[in-house]
Amino acid sequence: DFSVSIPVRSKDELGILAESIQTLARDLNFVKQERNDFLASASHELRTPLTYIKGYADIAKRTDLAAQERVQYLNIIHEESEKVTRLLEELFSLARMDLNNFPIVKERVRLAPFLHSVYEKVLPAFTNKEIHLQLDCSDDLYLDVDPSRFEQVLLNLLDNALKYSKEGTVTIQAFKKENSTQISIADQGIGIPNEDIPYVFDRLYRVEKSRARATGGFGLGLAIVKQLIEVQGGTISVEKNGDRGTRFTIVFKENY
Ligand code: ADP
Repeated sequence: DFSVSIPVRSKDELGILAESIQTLARDLNFVKQERNDFLASASHELRTPLTYIKGYADIAKRTDLAAQERVQYLNIIHEESEKVTRLLEELFSLARMDLNNFPIVKERVRLAPFLHSVYEKVLPAFTNKEIHLQLDCSDDLYLDVDPSRFEQVLLNLLDNALKYSKEGTVTIQAFKKENSTQISIADQGIGIPNEDIPYVFDRLYRVEKSRARATGGFGLGLAIVKQLIEVQGGTISVEKNGDRGTRFTIVFKENY
């Protein structure tokens, strides 16, 4: 532990120095605790699919199994190994962003056609679930972003909006506000409880773990989204969408 206790209580330079060392030690302990928590959750997430893989591999090895049954177990093994791969890929891209080892190639993007192509891409999934998708963007908006990374963000937010909606409309809106360009994605779905809102961008955080596990997520999607937006110079926030659903807002300040 970085436990530091410096018995200097004066208001002079030495006192200020002692106080800032103590604050630093507290911060370091906090970081250490966060890292330990994260490692514990990540190992737990990996252990679950690996337990299935091992268990079903043991059964599939049995010689008295019908071929059809064996295929069924092999399919589960395949699915679970894909989960492991996906989790490792997500963890890896976060780690690379932490180390600034993540190429971002920015260019000037005209938002209207860009958002339209994202809209077209996701529309079939929305139509399938009878969720209305609406796009609202004026012609004169531009952003300097990495188009493929930015698309990844929007696809992820739209995927969540769809996943957590049973009905209603999902709205993509782009607009200027004060000296910024903003894009919001709002749904009328099940919403995020107030007490969870501050944590949804945290790594491996899921609202109601059992529900989230059924939808196949690890709670890394929004952590990746936030980091992707920040490395491109923007910010992202979340709030309730009136009395129904959730709204994510991405903000790029002018001259960011
Ligand atoms: P996952 O990849 O597991 O979906 P995310 O990081 O994308 O994880 O989201 C974290 C949590 O936030 C999820 O467990 C989910 O419950 C909640 N969440 C995210 N987006 C929405 C949304 N549009 N509506 C309701 N809940 C949401």
